[in-house]
Amino acid sequence: MFTLVCKQIADGDNVVRVTVFFHNLAFLLIGLFIIQPSALAAQQWPEGEKIAISLSYDDALNSQLDNALPALNQRNLKASFYIVPLSDGFKNRIQEWRQLAQQGHELGNHSLFHACHSGKPGREWVEPWNALDDRMVQTMVSEITLANTILTSLDGYSEHTFTPPCFDQMAKDGNYVNAVKEQFVAIKSLEDPNFAALIAPSDISSAKIIEFIEKQPPNIKLVNVLFHGIGGDHLVTSTEQHAKFLDYLLANSDKYWIDTYRNIMLAKKRHSQ
Ligand SMILES: [Zn+2]
Repeated sequence: MFTLVCKQIADGDNVVRVTVFFHNLAFLLIGLFIIQPSALAAQQWPEGEKIAISLSYDDALNSQLDNALPALNQRNLKASFYIVPLSDGFKNRIQEWRQLAQQGHELGNHSLFHACHSGKPGREWVEPWNALDDRMVQTMVSEITLANTILTSLDGYSEHTFTPPCFDQMAKDGNYVNAVKEQFVAIKSLEDPNFAALIAPSDISSAKIIEFIEKQPPNIKLVNVLFHGIGGDHLVTSTEQHAKFLDYLLANSDKYWIDTYRNIMLAKKRHSQ
């Protein structure tokens, strides 16, 4: 361009044409400075202004296969299921979990035995042999590594995500979640609170879940909705309220990007590089 300008001047071309060129160049440069920040923002978040919604279902429960999965599949929504290999709902129905993964849902790691702290209020259900308070960090690392191996044998994926049982982190001799970080694409509850929010519905209406999502400030780009039982088992959300919530998401698909936690967090990593 500069060669062309110099040539025009050297040829004695009309000075007006050169002035117009510099005028246009100035607008081009101003335009670049104006456009660049929004272009960068779009790069950082693959779905533009949409809020990512990660639907997850913890503990490998029968009611999830019986009620949540059909509701998701009817609407072609993809979700993440955090598996405890020890649970009855998993070990008696392994083929169905494999099929679920083949349908595009995620099998996530929720540890091998679901060890949690026993001393907190409401933790009477933690059996003495399974108390995180008595586990060594290395024991937890081994259990979680083995749980990943089980998941890979089912879904063929080498990359998984993790939800720490009860969101507890401290084993007897240190923080075990930090010790397994490198094994995962992402860990639920460890995201930047300026980026992600989390709700774990239990016996509440779809309206309450929707209210939680809609009240998030603009900086929140991911909302984790973490279910347990659907129409049965524990920490139950009714099948009706669950279905109503899924219908709301579908009706507002211009605002929400609903995908597996693995897909959302892999995309986030790719776009922030
Ligand atoms: Zn759990």
